[in-house]
Amino acid sequence: RRAAATARRLLEAARDAIAVEAEHLGELDAVAGDGDHGIGMLRGLNAAVDAAEALGDAVGVRELLETAGDAWSETAGGTSGALWGSGLAELGRALGDPEQFRPEDAAAAVSAACTRIAELGGAAPGDKTMLDAMVPFQRALAAQLDSGADLASALAIAAGAAAEGAAATSGMLPRRGRATPLAERSLGHPDPGATSFRIIVDTVAGIAS
Ligand code: ADP
Ligand code: MG
Ligand code: MG
Repeated sequence: RRAAATARRLLEAARDAIAVEAEHLGELDAVAGDGDHGIGMLRGLNAAVDAAEALGDAVGVRELLETAGDAWSETAGGTSGALWGSGLAELGRALGDPEQFRPEDAAAAVSAACTRIAELGGAAPGDKTMLDAMVPFQRALAAQLDSGADLASALAIAAGAAAEGAAATSGMLPRRGRATPLAERSLGHPDPGATSFRIIVDTVAGIAS
């Protein structure tokens, strides 16, 4: 199954990219939070990759992403792990195992995953969370694919929107999660979860191009 093999390769690449940035993500999280965002993301992604690899080559992308997402949620600990794991599992359910992947199906599946994360976390854009990178990413992806762009260029533009969104969190005060009590301290620093989201979609876009 080609889609499952692609998903597995993207998870591995995301894991490698987060491994490089894990220390920096921890420092960002230590500004006003508990400093575990880098190790948490790495633990979750390692579990997701291991679960995906243990499934072998016979599975579809739906089962692969659901299994990887569940492993991420269970292993990572922390808010971001629960949200990423559920989002990934939802992405798998929404993609299903179609005979032929169409770009508009990818847009709908990403949208479903983002909705799941937003519902589960209860955050809104502007709260200084991963949503501030995720929502611009999802909107740009949908808009690009709607206007007929191919998946690779749509992903590149959407990753750019995520980077802008993540950078803009520097000027925000956290209104959700563990950084809330020391919110003022985080002014001038980007949100760790928005930053890791940006790193992951940038990696995915880089591979797709
Ligand atoms: P924890 O805060 O449990 O230690 P992490 O450090 O791994 O978990 O993740 C922190 C990140 O999670 C924050 O930077 C933010 O982006 C994201 N986050 C926290 N709470 C929420 C929420 N309610 N909805 C969406 N994202 C959230
Ligand atoms: Mg933390
Ligand atoms: Mg924590």
